[in-house]
Amino acid sequence: MREGTHSTPYRPLRRFSGMVLFEICVFAFLLTRLAFLQFGEEGRYDLLSRKNCIRFIPVLPRRGDILDRNGAVLAANTASYRLFIENPLKTRREEVLSLLQKELSLSEAATTKLRKESLKRAYLSLILVQDNLSWEQVSRLSLLQTHCSELHITMGYTRSYPYEEIFGSVTGYIGAPDAQEESSEPFHKHPDHRLGKAGLEKTFDETLQGAMGFRKVEVNATGSTVRQLEFSRAVQGSPLKTTLDAKLQAFAYHLLKPYKAAACVVIEVPSGAVRCLVSVPSYAPTALSNGESQAWKAALQDPMHPLLSRAIAGQYPPASVFKVVTMLAALENGLSPQEKVTCSGYWELGNHRFHCWKSVSGHGPLNLLEATCQSCDVYFFSLARRLGITPIASVARTLGLGEATGLLYGEKEGLVPSRAWKLLRRRQAWSLADTILVSIGQGPILVTPLQLAVLAAHIAHHGKRVHPTLVEAPLPLEEDLGFRPESIVYLQNALTEVCTTGTGRRARPAGALVAGKTGTAQVRRISEQDRVLGKLDTADRAWEERDHSLFLGYAPAGGDPSGTRYAISVVIEHGGKGGVTAATVARQLFEALLELPPQEQESYAPAL
Ligand SMILES: [Zn+2]
Repeated sequence: MREGTHSTPYRPLRRFSGMVLFEICVFAFLLTRLAFLQFGEEGRYDLLSRKNCIRFIPVLPRRGDILDRNGAVLAANTASYRLFIENPLKTRREEVLSLLQKELSLSEAATTKLRKESLKRAYLSLILVQDNLSWEQVSRLSLLQTHCSELHITMGYTRSYPYEEIFGSVTGYIGAPDAQEESSEPFHKHPDHRLGKAGLEKTFDETLQGAMGFRKVEVNATGSTVRQLEFSRAVQGSPLKTTLDAKLQAFAYHLLKPYKAAACVVIEVPSGAVRCLVSVPSYAPTALSNGESQAWKAALQDPMHPLLSRAIAGQYPPASVFKVVTMLAALENGLSPQEKVTCSGYWELGNHRFHCWKSVSGHGPLNLLEATCQSCDVYFFSLARRLGITPIASVARTLGLGEATGLLYGEKEGLVPSRAWKLLRRRQAWSLADTILVSIGQGPILVTPLQLAVLAAHIAHHGKRVHPTLVEAPLPLEEDLGFRPESIVYLQNALTEVCTTGTGRRARPAGALVAGKTGTAQVRRISEQDRVLGKLDTADRAWEERDHSLFLGYAPAGGDPSGTRYAISVVIEHGGKGGVTAATVARQLFEALLELPPQEQESYAPAL
């Protein structure tokens, strides 16, 4: 080898020089190319080369419909064509924008908004330009696609809610994923992707959403699709058939609408099927789901907070409907229902007087049944004094108060206080005065209309648990709540008497027995001066100072113990007396549920 090398001293050098030159040229070319690829226009070629010109385009699934128990559509999809652009290169931006402005007659403001969006977004990410394209626009834009590869026309779905505000607070609405939701799933970044944000839409989002599909395509250097490599079909979301009854919901909504703020719930016993869940005021979910800014502004600025679903998240002092709990605690703890207590209109603790609602003359001597029928506060003060808070709070929790039922997203748990709660939250020891107030549903105790209806359902189901549900489900195994059957029977009879001769008689429709309890929750204390002046009725006060009106109960009472019953709750904010306003609404609901002829309408809707 050495021999050979020496024998031809100049040729290898020449060959070497040629090769080096060639390699330098190639290397220089590669370097330049690399630099171009890495630092070229907005990394376009870098992106295309690194990703091997392959792109994934998400295919959105159609969201499942929401139906009532009879198949009436509560939420559906309307197909529409929409135009997206793939965010263009900086050098192409103005050209694409001016084309869009001309073709879609975009206003200057709309074009500016698009420009801002384009500047904010990454290259090639999709930006929604226009929804609900007309056929004419679709055909014209399709022709333009051949020399403007950034244009993408796709078919999407717009969510619509035929019953609008009647079911608004139950169906909820959908909206674009927030930053956290976006980061949890890459497909959530699609500008047309929507997630459930409230109500059924949020609670059952996984069922309704379906599964995203995708198109895997090869694109050329200019971003135009060369061919489709793979296609995975989107899986449509499952329809959600609920237990709700659209006819009943509409009826109940219109009953409550004359009041500024109210809620009612109907639960079928023993299945737990929720038949209606009404909140007033409500909102029209179609506009909110479509992100209409005016609708959002109106909903957010409304002082009556229509976005608050009062049936599940309105928390109220239960007032005298809570006497059901105190009564059961007394019966369970051996207090005799025959024992009489004399009501002289008030009860004194130290130098403080706790008044009965009939504070002027008092109720005189009564036993438990009479006290329940007349809703005498003094009698219940006497029970509370002997029981203490612990057994009362324990019965309240067993009946489902103080915790969410899990029915819908956004539900509130209310409050059942205890000695530990007061020490922790108010840094004060529990007092007898607290027990006295809680025994009649005032003081630090809060319930939701849903909890009240569930409580009524437990009693209607003879002390067995009723699980409220919005989707048909097999009946769960019977679970006894552990009360003595005699206590439950006494309670059922007492509540039937309340709606026959007592404060709840306005809730009884002609031709049926119903059981229930009324409540009138004070929102402003009645002062001694008001008492002296005889101003005990709050009807002539400003709306926000009037009492809340409540009712819970079930029908039919008595009769076949295995038959279907309907447990209901009605809460009317600042509606005045429970035995008048809420009881009358309850009667109208019972008439509808039991298909009884409606009695002559009495209107207790206050002047607003
Ligand atoms: Zn009394």
